Amino acid sequence: SKNLIEVEHIKKYFPIHKGLLNRVVGNVKAVDDVSISIREGETFGLVGESGCGKSTLGRVILRLQSATGGAVKFNGRDIHSMNSRELNKIREEMQIIFQDPFGSLNPRFLVKDIIGEPLKVHTKQSAQEIDKRVVELMELVGLDATRRNRYPHEFSGGQRQRIGIARAIALNPKFIVADEAVSALDVSVQSQVINLLMKLQKEMGLTFLFIAHGLNVVRHISDRVGVMYLGKMAEVGETEALYASPLHPYTAALLSAIPEPTPNRKKKRIVLQGDVPSPANPPSGCRFHPRCPFAQAKCSQVEPLLEEILPGRQVACHFPLGVEGGSDLASIGR
Ligand code: SF4
Ligand code: MG
Repeated sequence: SKNLIEVEHIKKYFPIHKGLLNRVVGNVKAVDDVSISIREGETFGLVGESGCGKSTLGRVILRLQSATGGAVKFNGRDIHSMNSRELNKIREEMQIIFQDPFGSLNPRFLVKDIIGEPLKVHTKQSAQEIDKRVVELMELVGLDATRRNRYPHEFSGGQRQRIGIARAIALNPKFIVADEAVSALDVSVQSQVINLLMKLQKEMGLTFLFIAHGLNVVRHISDRVGVMYLGKMAEVGETEALYASPLHPYTAALLSAIPEPTPNRKKKRIVLQGDVPSPANPPSGCRFHPRCPFAQAKCSQVEPLLEEILPGRQVACHFPLGVEGGSDLASIGR
């Protein structure tokens, strides 16, 4: 199917100010030249450690933040060059679900007003019509609509996340960014919410950018997965292929850290050295090189570009795993 979203060379830099004159002394390169496409009707899982730029990328894609450079095309039109009228129109098609449903739901608003707010802002529906739609939406996300005159704190964490989802789908959007939407929930509640999102996707033809910390969370819901490291896209691939044979050493390290229900003695744990470096001062060459167990001399000198090296598999690494002339898992200990 066609691409709904095309992210082209997006950069988002945050200036670092210093001293009495508040001079700009550098930039935090939160997102540094990222290009991805998201197909209509798919879920693109976006994964990486805190500070890798995944939330920033999600916000720039929705133009909740401006871009330092690059373009984000929605149905072929760059949303970063739209005027406010065009943008307001397209906002109805793009929504976001946040991590903390408590923090993102106004505690002084009744649930019916929270869910109905986008309808009030973007449509000319009467109070009665909005109430009818709120009931419909609550039922669609598995909430008891007779509780719509209550406040968010009267609902559990999972139910609050459903309130956030009901609000996000109120205007029949095409595209939803779920930013750590299930990260604060218990594992069992996580899978309920993920199943709800998958059901809604099917019924409404939604396209998702599903952002999470860990690869285990995105596996079930994602058609394709992108792994970010320090503002760069390290690897993109079809979910099953990427999990079965990661090409980027960082992806392999993230996968090897997922605990398995039945311990596999053959599975090799890749232990990363040190912490994620500061995006204000990223390492030269491959940003992952100080922590990569497979790094070679070239890695600290030449930046690897994201390239399609197998059909549907993109990787930014000079020595990808498991390919001719690449890195070999057997070469590291344990
Ligand atoms: Fe490791 Fe080099 Fe590949 Fe970077 S380019 S991930 S340092 S092997
Ligand atoms: Mg985040």
